[in-house]
Amino acid sequence: MAALEFSRRYSMAHRLLADPASKCAVPHGHNEIVTVRLEPAQPFIFGGANAIAPFSAIKGRWHRWIDEAVDHCFMVGEDDPIIAFFREREPAQLKRLMTFRGDPTTEALAACFWLKLSAFLVEDALPFRVTGVRVEETPTNTVAIHAGVFDPETCGMPARAWPRRADMSINEFDR
Ligand SMILES: [Zn+2]
Repeated sequence: MAALEFSRRYSMAHRLLADPASKCAVPHGHNEIVTVRLEPAQPFIFGGANAIAPFSAIKGRWHRWIDEAVDHCFMVGEDDPIIAFFREREPAQLKRLMTFRGDPTTEALAACFWLKLSAFLVEDALPFRVTGVRVEETPTNTVAIHAGVFDPETCGMPARAWPRRADMSINEFDR
């Protein structure tokens, strides 16, 4: 079976606090495209449907999460004081915040995408594993991670954190 790649477009906002002098320190947005690469657990063998699973079964839940939870979310570090603003003034919008340990960079987002999609594949018993994630932040800037530069086991994400849960979550506010 061949490797599969799926792309999805979404809009997002974020702000990065590590460098207060950076123009990224104020909220701003990008229209991004995420492309994931999946490889099957077994090599291809001719016969029958000649596919391990229909495309719709493999990408359906992933794209629903991108469309309903990621599109138009606001990505913030979990220590960002702007979270307190939303808690106090606009608590109904807390569900639109995607939270990160550390700054919500495109690198961190790609890693979270890897973990979330992996959780969906495991829960749906689909015989694929994630082997690459590309996030096109702008037409000229892309972050790409693959097994050589990202290891889900040693990345430091806690076991019950939202990226590892096979649900629609993007934060921990309701836990
Ligand atoms: Zn940005």
